[in-house]
Amino acid sequence: MAARRRSAGKHRRPGKHRAASSTHPSPPVLVGTAVLATAAAAWFSPTTALGSTRDAAVHRTSPEPGPTPTELAAAASAVQAQAAGAATAGSRFTAPAAKARSTARQRASRSAARIALQDAVATPQWVKPVDRYTLTAHFGEGGGLWSHGHTGQDFAAPTGTPVHAVGAGVVVSAQRDGAYGNKIVLQHADGTQTWYCHLSAFLVSPGDKVTTGEEIGRVGATGNTTGPHLHLEVRPTPDQPVDPMPWLRAHGVEV
Ligand SMILES: [Zn+2]
Repeated sequence: MAARRRSAGKHRRPGKHRAASSTHPSPPVLVGTAVLATAAAAWFSPTTALGSTRDAAVHRTSPEPGPTPTELAAAASAVQAQAAGAATAGSRFTAPAAKARSTARQRASRSAARIALQDAVATPQWVKPVDRYTLTAHFGEGGGLWSHGHTGQDFAAPTGTPVHAVGAGVVVSAQRDGAYGNKIVLQHADGTQTWYCHLSAFLVSPGDKVTTGEEIGRVGATGNTTGPHLHLEVRPTPDQPVDPMPWLRAHGVEV
C-alpha cells in the first residue's frame, strides 16, 4: 500500500515519484496532522472523482513506501468532510460507491436528527419557575414597592414552594440583595439571565450548572415584599429586564 502523495509528506524525496503528482501542485514540506489534513483536502480536489481517488490512495500497489497511519487518517477525514459537504449540497459524485456512502450518511444523519427531536420533545428546554401559583404583580406595574416600575413577574405561592430553573444554565450568584431579598441569578447559553428573588432558601451555589426544571431554591418573603412569592426577572442583557411572560411563552412555556 503506497501512494504518490508521499510527495506531499514531510519525508518528501526528490526523484521520479514526484512526476506522478505532476497534475497537482506540490505542497511545501509539512509538519503536523492539521497541516496534513489541509494538504490532503487540497490534494483530494473536488474536481477529482471522490470514490476512485480514495480507492487509488488506499489500494495503489506502488513500490514507494506507503503513507503513515497519521497521513491516512488525515486524508480519510478530509475525504469524509468533503463527502459530507457534497451530500449536503446535493451530491455531484455519481460513482456508485460514493453514492452508497452518501446515502448511508444521509440515513445516519436523519436518524440522529430524529433522536434529537425525540429527546427535545421528551425533555423540554424551558419550564415554569413554580408549578402552582397565582400571578400577582405584572411587569411594568407602578406602585410603592418599585421606584421605576416593576421589573419582573410575581408568582404568589406559599413559603417553601420549590423554585425551578426555567432553563439550563450556570449559577452566577446566590445571595441576599437588598429589596430583592435572597436572589439567585442564572445565566443561560444565549447570555440571558433569569433572576429568582425573595427566596426563603438557596439550593445552589455560584458556579453550579443546573438543568432545566432543577429545584434551585424555595419561595419566601425576604426583601421588599408584602407576602411570600417568587419575583422572576428575565434579562437578555444584565441591565435590561424584559416582561417574563411573553418571553416564557416564546420559549414554549404555558404560564
Ligand atoms: Zn416582584
